[in-house]
Amino acid sequence: MLTIKCSKCKNKLFKYRKIGKGKVLVCHKNRIKRMYKMIKELDTYKCSCGNVVGKDEGSYIKMNGHGFTYSGTKE
Ligand SMILES: [Zn+2]
Repeated sequence: MLTIKCSKCKNKLFKYRKIGKGKVLVCHKNRIKRMYKMIKELDTYKCSCGNVVGKDEGSYIKMNGHGFTYSGTKE
């Protein structure tokens, strides 16, 4: 499980079950296990500090590569 954090304020955003060793480019919503402080504005997901984290693409979030960091293990 990965913990996705804001790259600016380091707040936790959500926990994500990442399958595969590749980069985190998108996050499938059905693998998001817990949401912390994340704001949805139209189709944009932001941290509560205003940092843009990703864009809503329906069943997944297309992640902004500069908007987040993560820790934890991939499966
Ligand atoms: Zn933030």
